Amino acid sequence: MATSDHWQEDPGAWRTSPRPRGWKTLRAQALERDGDQCTWDDDGERCTEAGTDVDHIGDPDDHRFEKLRILCGHHDPSDVPGF
Ligand SMILES: [Zn+2]
Repeated sequence: MATSDHWQEDPGAWRTSPRPRGWKTLRAQALERDGDQCTWDDDGERCTEAGTDVDHIGDPDDHRFEKLRILCGHHDPSDVPGF
């Protein structure tokens, strides 16, 4: 089941928190800010994978721009069982 990069328009389809208005724009801006690259930091070494998922730092209901980060499919916690 590696389908998390297929974000769906329908809120609540696979997330418990509905996406805010303008989420698509926020998501695009976050991707641009981080250069479409995963921001996962492993002991000071940034992941070099292409970022495909927008993750919330902390509260999943906090959609502020600075609370978003870009992750590759590999590092998206929603893809990691038991994370
Ligand atoms: Zn990564």
